[in-house]
Amino acid sequence: MTELRWRLADDDGGQGALFEQEVERHIGRGEFRGMEFLHVQARRVINEVPRASRMPFRWTINAYRGCSHACVFCFARPTHEYLGMNGGEDFDRKIVVKINAVERVRAELAPGRWAGDHIAMGTNTDPYQRCEGKYRLTQGILGELLAATNPFSILTKSTLILRDLDLLAEAARRTDVRANFSIGTLDEEVWRMTEPGTPHPRRRVEAVAKLNAAGVPCGVLMAPVLPGLSDRPEQLEAVVKACVEAGAVSITPLLLHLRAGVREHYLGWLAGARPDLMDQYAELYPRAYAPAGTQDELAKTVQALVAHHGGRSVGPRQARSVPPKPPAPPAVSQLQLGV
Ligand code: SF4
Repeated sequence: MTELRWRLADDDGGQGALFEQEVERHIGRGEFRGMEFLHVQARRVINEVPRASRMPFRWTINAYRGCSHACVFCFARPTHEYLGMNGGEDFDRKIVVKINAVERVRAELAPGRWAGDHIAMGTNTDPYQRCEGKYRLTQGILGELLAATNPFSILTKSTLILRDLDLLAEAARRTDVRANFSIGTLDEEVWRMTEPGTPHPRRRVEAVAKLNAAGVPCGVLMAPVLPGLSDRPEQLEAVVKACVEAGAVSITPLLLHLRAGVREHYLGWLAGARPDLMDQYAELYPRAYAPAGTQDELAKTVQALVAHHGGRSVGPRQARSVPPKPPAPPAVSQLQLGV
């Protein structure tokens, strides 16, 4: 049985200490189809992003740590190492569950304690990963945000979000709500290789259409675009075209980013799956980010495709905000009607 051990090391950017502040104790476990769930009692669930961070949001909720979607490029993998587990198979199969998340959110949103700021969900791991079907923490949290009429955004790769369509639509009628789907590619082979636990990307496109049709503004992060795997112009166009047709309120491309911890996992996988690409990656990624010119080129290509297909592209900082409503048609007076 896995035990949680906070790694309170100086070289983890304070993340182990942060998680120790978030979590009171490890209170039990569950198992299901080869997965292990580590139940923890959270001290607090709405967490402030460290001020030094350049993230375009200040408050986050992440009820789960680890993610069964098991994407080979997942940027959150190193967070498992702060808990004494590895960022490989442990990240995919040992999920930390903040079992009291709904009660904590209710307490933290109480009048007088909370100023009503926007809260971002899905910033670390997917709030609709498979175990949400069992624990329903995201659903409970949405209920609390709705009851408090608190603005929020949510990012996912899972069509399980449609289970909560009525809740989301009601929240969107009362406050600012924004959804985003992450759809990096529609290429079947690349999807199977790189995001083995996620719903088919075509099902995600359909979910984008359903959310927008229900009044929940939903955009798409084309993230991450993988050099040599999903960045051919025809691959990019297939995603853009499908998402614009699905009514995505915005489209934002993001090129792969390989920070320490992710880099080792991804390049280890690539060496086995596509050794022919290793030289290209060595050239593109001497650092965590690909050269600015390569990122700009992708952004421009996608912007041109989005414009061509009649959609709206925005940068990463705008991707979680609610798009402006189209201007109301001018009021038609009786005089204008000439009657
Ligand atoms: S869905 Fe998101 S959080 Fe989950 S493994 Fe994939 S990239 Fe990571």
